[in-house]
Order: sequence, then C-alpha cells, then structure tokens
Amino acid sequence: MPVPINGTETMVKKLSRKVSRDGAVRKPAATAEHKEVSFLESVNKMFDRAAATLDLPPGLPELIKRCLWVYQVRFPVKIRGKIMVFTGWRGVHSEHRLPTKGGIRYAPVVGQDEVEALAALMTYKCALMDVPYGGSKGGLCINPKEYNEEELEQITRRFANELARRGFISPSLNVPAPDMGTGAREMAWIADEYRRMYPSDIDAIACVTGKPPIAGGIAGRVEATGRGVQYGLREFFRNPKDVARAGLTGDLAGKRIIVQGLGNVGYHAAKFLQEEDGARIIGIIERDGALVSERGLIVEEVAAYKKQHQGVCGFPDATFVKNGSVILEEDCDILIPAATENQITIANAPRIRAKLIAEAANGPVTSEADKFFSDAGKVVIPDFYLNAGGVTVSYFEWIKNLSHIRFGRMDRRMMEVRGAHVIEAIESVAGKKVPEHLARQVKYGADEIDHIRSGLDDTMRKAYQEMRDVWHGNPKVPDIRTAAFVVAIQKIASSYQEMGI
Ligand code: GLU
Repeated sequence: MPVPINGTETMVKKLSRKVSRDGAVRKPAATAEHKEVSFLESVNKMFDRAAATLDLPPGLPELIKRCLWVYQVRFPVKIRGKIMVFTGWRGVHSEHRLPTKGGIRYAPVVGQDEVEALAALMTYKCALMDVPYGGSKGGLCINPKEYNEEELEQITRRFANELARRGFISPSLNVPAPDMGTGAREMAWIADEYRRMYPSDIDAIACVTGKPPIAGGIAGRVEATGRGVQYGLREFFRNPKDVARAGLTGDLAGKRIIVQGLGNVGYHAAKFLQEEDGARIIGIIERDGALVSERGLIVEEVAAYKKQHQGVCGFPDATFVKNGSVILEEDCDILIPAATENQITIANAPRIRAKLIAEAANGPVTSEADKFFSDAGKVVIPDFYLNAGGVTVSYFEWIKNLSHIRFGRMDRRMMEVRGAHVIEAIESVAGKKVPEHLARQVKYGADEIDHIRSGLDDTMRKAYQEMRDVWHGNPKVPDIRTAAFVVAIQKIASSYQEMGI
C-alpha cells in the first residue's frame, strides 16, 4: 500500500537482478499438510509438464519459460495535501513477437510474482490464439476504491508516464489493456497521457487497447472476454466426444452453471450463456457471499442488485451463503471461476463436484489441483484459451488504430446493395417474394461489432481445434491444458528457431 514519504525511486531491472517482491503476498488457500506453490511456480509447473512431452533443443524450454524483464517503479502523487508513493510493475515475459501485450491490474495485493505469472500466461495465450504478440502484464499496488476519480486519473497518468518513458508503453513495443481493477476509463487516460508525451506519433492511440469507443476503442471490447468464454464453451459443446469426457451430453441449453465473480468477465459470460444459450445460472459467488437458486438466477437482476447494494447479500428469491467459497464445491454441470487466481487448490479440489471446470479467470486452478483433476479425468478448459477473448479483441482494436479506420466502413453499404440485388434476382426468377425475415438477413451489411464477433468466434474455434488435435492425437498429453501448452510452446519455439535466438 502507498505510504507517505518524500522523493521518487525508479528502477529498471533485468531478470538477473530480480527485485525483491514488494506488496503483500497473495497466499494460496491451502491447508498445512498440502503446501501450495506460488502463482508463478504453478504456471511454470504446468508449463514443465507440457514441455516434457516435447523434444525441444536443450535450454529452449527455459528460455521460453522465463520472464525477460521486470520493471518496478515507485512514484509519488500528491493527494489530499500528502505525498503518497505508489509501487507498480510491468513485466515483459517474451519478445519473440512485438509488441508485447497484456493488461494492467490495480489491486491492493498485486506483486512481482503475480505480474510475472500473468505475463507468462499472456505469452502462451497470444501464441495459442495466433495473436501476434509477446506476453506482458502490469500491476499497481492500490485499492482503487480508496480514491476518487480525479485522484485515480492523477495516479494513472503518472504511472503511464513512468512506464512510457522507459518503453513499457508504446504502440510498437508494449501495449497495455484493462485487467482487474481497471477499465476503459483508465485506458483513455493512458492513451491521452501517451499522446501528450509523443504528439507527433501518428499511431499514438494504438499504445493501449480497451479504450472507450469515443477515444479510439472498438465495439465489443468490454464484453470480449465474457463473449470469448461463451464462444469457447460453444465450441467445446460442438464436440460430443469431449462433452462425453466431462460426463455431459447435449449442448449448453439447460446446463446448470455456477459462476465465481460477477465482474466484467463473469457477468458477461453468465449473461450471454443464460440469455443466448439457455443455460441455468444456479449459483453466483461474490465477495460478500454466494447466491444459490436451483430455479436459476437472472444475471441482470443480480448485477443490478450488486451495484446498488455493493454486494449480493439480501438478494430476494435466492439462498444466501455467507462462506461463498463452499459453493465452488456444489454439484453443477459447469463451474466457471471468473474471479482471481488460486481459488481451486489441492485443499478443495477433491471436493469439487462440477463435471466441467471452465476457467474464465487467469490461474484459478493451481498446478497441484490441476494435476489432481488430470489424474481423476476431470475436464478443465484452461484459462489461457478460455479467457483469450479480451486480448483477441484488443488485437482487433490495435489493428483498427494502426489502420485509422473502423471495420466495416468501406464495405457495409456495398454489402447491403449487393444483398438487395440478390433478393431481386431470386424474386424475379422465382416469381414470388422472399420472406421478409430472410430478405433482411441477406441485405444486411456487417458493421464493426459483426466483424469483431465473427473474428473472435473464428479465433476461439480454430484454437480449440488445435488444442483438441493434440489432446486426442498425442497419447503423452493427458488433458486440454497440457495440449494448450504444447500448441503454444511449439509456436513460440518455432518462432525462435526461425528467427534465431
Ligand atoms: N487483461 C486481459 C487478459 O488477461 C486482456 C489483455 C489484453 O487485452 O491485452 O487477457
């Protein structure tokens, strides 16, 4: 947490001189007899399991696995007459593709281990999804709730300035995005700060993604991670063999789902799965407790209640359970942890009754719990696949910014005219009218949001099939996460081998 002192301290650190961890340590929820490893060790252990199935040149797995840079900065901001000093990080995990990409997290317990783990996940995520970036991540040790908007703007601008001055924000080198505790508003401040620093850079607006549409953002970015969860789950359910492995049948309709976290990701995922796929949300776990209703909770109503009451306690027509984490263990078809890391550890993994675990957060299942699930044959759809919708749409936003034109602007009306001609042609040959609902679809010209959803859907489907081929095709690969790592590692390895180290 920030402490009032005088002066500034900024440091650039290469890995060989790794800074000691600053900020509180987020402890995994483990019992005394089951010692869990840190988030970073957990990601690395899962990486090692996959790398062991590959025949890579000696030293290459180590190179891929390690975080290249960690920059720690302390900077002062004068708030309510006092000088407050904040600590932030930006980790660059891999530069095999540039720019590097990844969100900036604002949380009271963020630290270097977490930033490195999240940056590593970004590398694997981008490789798996064919999003041409290296992995990066940032964090600022702050509880945003303790500051008003004006103060947060001051803090964000100063942090952005510190990062940009050292190349940790730049359209060609490092492009941040929202993560926990940040959103479009913070990204707009970052973009504006960067533009002020480099007014002659015509691509300045591409220095950050997740901006509001009015400030160079793209349609569908806010919902993108939740939308990706929906598309990823739809693709899973298009493969009956995989569905059967989870002990399930059919599609998403009627599936009983428990969601942990009704933040941006959990809210959108649950809303879309309920409203568009007919799934039943039987449990929602929030900070202050969990809501349970076998009949199903209306996501919009719970979200509105939460906003008004700063929690879900007291929501009508549902059972409230104060110790929300026990609801992770309730019987359901799909458990969607969409909150934060280290939620399912070896301590509670044996009690998880969900048939399918769909990781919408980054790192919700620890490596020990993951090994337990893999040995038990329980299906887990891994984080760096399922929550990749955010960075995928960020990629579209970055392309839009660099090309300085919105998707659909050149061809939308042309498609409408072409569609009208097709209808006319059909009607003149058939001698009768095409039903209005069909005619409307044929005449429709795709707008930006249609391009974005189509691109996201295609990306989610393609990556799933790549993981699936490895999962079913390689007897050494026991689960989807290992398959996802194998796909990602192979792509990164071949990029190093082709370009040189
Ligand atoms: N913070 C998001 C993630 O963890 C988005 C990253 C991005 O868009 O660059 O994937």
